Amino acid sequence: MNASLYGLRFVINHHLFGKTMPLIRGLVLSNRCNLHCAHCRLDERGHQDMDFAEATAAIDAYYREGGRCLYLEGGEPFLWRDGPRTLEDIVAHARRTGFLTVVVYTNGTFPITTSASTVFVSVDGLRETHDSLRGVSYDRIMENIHASAHRSLFINCTINRRNRDELAAFTAHVDGIPNIRGVFFYFHTPYYGYDDLYLEPGERRAVLDELLRLRKRHKILNSRAGLLSARRNDWKRPMAACSVYEKGAVYPCCRFSHDPELCRQCGYLSYAEIDQTLKLKPSAILNAFKYF
Ligand code: SF4
Ligand code: SF4
Repeated sequence: MNASLYGLRFVINHHLFGKTMPLIRGLVLSNRCNLHCAHCRLDERGHQDMDFAEATAAIDAYYREGGRCLYLEGGEPFLWRDGPRTLEDIVAHARRTGFLTVVVYTNGTFPITTSASTVFVSVDGLRETHDSLRGVSYDRIMENIHASAHRSLFINCTINRRNRDELAAFTAHVDGIPNIRGVFFYFHTPYYGYDDLYLEPGERRAVLDELLRLRKRHKILNSRAGLLSARRNDWKRPMAACSVYEKGAVYPCCRFSHDPELCRQCGYLSYAEIDQTLKLKPSAILNAFKYF
């Protein structure tokens, strides 16, 4: 079965039989990272390093539960090692086990060489803004993107107060990167409180209006349905079909506080996409085919 058929079966089970199968499991290989982004406090959770045996046991257990889509994340997953084992050994194990989609989330500072199905690289704006948010890394990331032969490469961009005014320039820039298939936008989520990166709901709506305009002529991965749902802030949450494994614990939806107020402010718009796909919105379904 390929990933598209699996997605179809997921939707049929959800709608006709009221049964929601596991959809996505994020596997935190380690919280170690070589960057120190302004919005990130993962180091406060401890390194949470997983060895190969734990990672493969977690992968196998999720497969037995029915999961077929695995997201490898961190920290920075390309930093992960267990003796001679690297990220590629984890990807290969997931493939052998039968996972249909294996996705890597990376900060892009290491060569992007992997047999994962899809890679999302975090870039949070044009050079100066990105470097102010994530530390000086933009040029290295662009070099790695240009050098990568991966065929399913996307950019993740988290919108906040510092980069919100350059989205038109940023999307035009992304259009010019030949091996990038598109950019997916998130909003900064106030996991640690309302900081200077946070955008108020009204400010978010103005940005979403701009993205709805920009997506007509730029390589923006968010669907129209997903952006409209984000504008209404009405996507279902927490997203029970998705979960994260971090060092022996499985967290539904995400590994941060499930405080309802935080969830109301959640900017994790890929869950808005999933919600709209499950509500059978055509633009969200078409989009899902691009990265599943
Ligand atoms: S690259 Fe990711 S894990 Fe590393 S500091 Fe930035 S947000 Fe945190
Ligand atoms: S903040 Fe809430 S809605 Fe957002 S990912 Fe976490 S649990 Fe899900």
